[in-house]
Amino acid sequence: MVKKGMLIVLSGPSGVGKGTVRKALFEEPDADFSYSISMTTRQPRPGERDGIDYYFVSKEEFEENIRNGEMLEYAKYVDNYYGTPLKYVNQTLESGQDVFLEIEVNGAMQVRAVAPDAVFVFLTPPDLIELKHRLIGRGTDDMSVIDKRIKQAATEIRMMRNYDYAVVNDQVDNAVEAIKTIIKSERLRVTRV
Ligand code: 5GP
Repeated sequence: MVKKGMLIVLSGPSGVGKGTVRKALFEEPDADFSYSISMTTRQPRPGERDGIDYYFVSKEEFEENIRNGEMLEYAKYVDNYYGTPLKYVNQTLESGQDVFLEIEVNGAMQVRAVAPDAVFVFLTPPDLIELKHRLIGRGTDDMSVIDKRIKQAATEIRMMRNYDYAVVNDQVDNAVEAIKTIIKSERLRVTRV
């Protein structure tokens, strides 16, 4: 039997540092899993590149992908669509390679519904105040967007119980080590769901 790859889902509130942790994880020399680049309708931030950070598309293009059944999951988040193109995930898993998603919580629950054997990791901030300071410190969003994100984060934290693992992002290095440990352990698992 052909061994299929494992799907690893990192989720948690926006601003918790998922992007930073994911980038640090992929800089590790022993990172032997593939990152699934997401599609979004939000505008690129300075320095972000199409096809590397995201696939930046129009609302019409995104909705066409939804209609055509080309998304594994998608969510509307702070007025924009974000989603995971299905084809890349399927092809990569089929080839036996593990795939890593970094997505918000609604999308993660959609993945849980269709791929219950995936590994779900919830990244948490040490607390919500810290999260607010991080969002402000990042300087990329204005206050009304930050307030929306904070409200969303409070809801998201209650969702932690739907995950297999919780990792506190007190320091990026610690979070990266914890995620590497989770992946190593999951690969040694005798049975999956
Ligand atoms: P940002 O605008 O800060 O890049 O991302 C906003 C939120 O969307 C973050 O929580 C990020 O993890 C999430 N996100 C990024 N890509 C995807 C995706 O493909 N699907 C879903 N559901 N969320 C995503």
